[in-house]
Amino acid sequence: MNAPAALAAKYDLRVPRYTSYPTAPHFSAALDGRLYRTWLSELDPQQPLSLYFHIPFCDSMCWFCGCYTKIVQQYQPILDYLETLHREIGLIAQALPGRFTARHLHWGGGSPTMLKAEDWLRLVEALRAAFDIAADAELAVEVDPRDTTEEYVTALAAAGVNRVSIGVQDFDATVQAAVNRLQPFATVERVANWLRQHGIWRLNLDLMYGLPHQTVARVTAMAEHAVTLAPSRVALFGYAHVPWMKSHQKLIDESALPGVDERLAQYLAAADVLIGHGYRAIGLDHFALPGDPLAEAAAAGQLRRNFQGYTTDGADVLIGFGASAIGSLPQGYIQNAAPLKTYRTAIAEGMLPTARGIALDAEDRLRRAIIDSLMCALSVDLDVVCRAHGVAADRFAAELERLQPLAADGLVTIAGARITVTDEGRPFVRLAAAVFDAYLETGAARHSRAV
Ligand code: SF4
Repeated sequence: MNAPAALAAKYDLRVPRYTSYPTAPHFSAALDGRLYRTWLSELDPQQPLSLYFHIPFCDSMCWFCGCYTKIVQQYQPILDYLETLHREIGLIAQALPGRFTARHLHWGGGSPTMLKAEDWLRLVEALRAAFDIAADAELAVEVDPRDTTEEYVTALAAAGVNRVSIGVQDFDATVQAAVNRLQPFATVERVANWLRQHGIWRLNLDLMYGLPHQTVARVTAMAEHAVTLAPSRVALFGYAHVPWMKSHQKLIDESALPGVDERLAQYLAAADVLIGHGYRAIGLDHFALPGDPLAEAAAAGQLRRNFQGYTTDGADVLIGFGASAIGSLPQGYIQNAAPLKTYRTAIAEGMLPTARGIALDAEDRLRRAIIDSLMCALSVDLDVVCRAHGVAADRFAAELERLQPLAADGLVTIAGARITVTDEGRPFVRLAAAVFDAYLETGAARHSRAV
């Protein structure tokens, strides 16, 4: 076994992805819509907002999918859902103490491409009625290229969308067949061309490694194909095989899944191609061209992480709309009910559809600052964080001790109170973050592989 493979095998642990801290499995059902309403009422209208909209519908199931979505063949359930979403926008706007300005808007799913163009425009109109949208706001949409028509791209452009993430995973036909997502390169290329023709220049590609039948050679070819489309950002996600949480993943042939050492080799191979074409590695799993705001934010130490991954979004208030959507407020996290019926019933009764959440205490904020810094900047100065949070500088002696094996393997360096994730350690950064996770041992949650 070569050195990276040996490390991958040694650290084949399952840890969270840290898109929040505390992570979602530790949210409590005790947090309800009444408390959320209070939190909203306490916000300052000067605070910029980030808005997330979850569209939980697709027309076929990709077997690797980790999202909350439903397969529908008819449009009526989507229309019904949109009606509820419109009402939710009204309820939130009423709960806020004034008119707020949104700076980042993101539509994910599921597939926002399941919406008809006219409904898409109607939704953006409703948002403009409820919120001011900053002139330089980022309006980002995840699209499934299989469902994307030129008419739809026209509607996105008319609505002011200025960033699109195209779901790709891999271009290889064998891999696509093994995950039930047939999507030739030409389909993706056509959508990328339409987007640019209609003035949407900021393109992200979402790629994956660790899928069934992927090999280093196939992943290398995937990355080489991807760069020919010149996306300004690439997300390179490791497939998270969690069939105990996502039962459709049981359709994946486990014998075709790459092992942990192969997964790391695939990640490194794809990263090599991207970096060789001028992309900068950002955090755990993103890459961006130097002029892209994500690369600039990373260089300036201003990279942030939220439920969509790495972002330039500096807003402290993220409001989630739609079934299962998660929001982040200065007071804590909240998550909407996932079952569509529960979500719809709550809103029909004029209530916020909150199902769970967590109020942050001082300890959570302290540890979140450390974990965010590790995940975004790949380093943290514990003295600086402790000082900012008013706690003793030697507070994390036990955690520093627990980092020693990672340091001995060259994955992190520890100089006094400064922890830095090395280049070799980048794929293992979740392990360093997990050392500071006070909840990790307390739940029954089972997570995906660290690499
Ligand atoms: S299109 Fe996206 S959300 Fe829908 S099933 Fe496939 S991966 Fe999941």
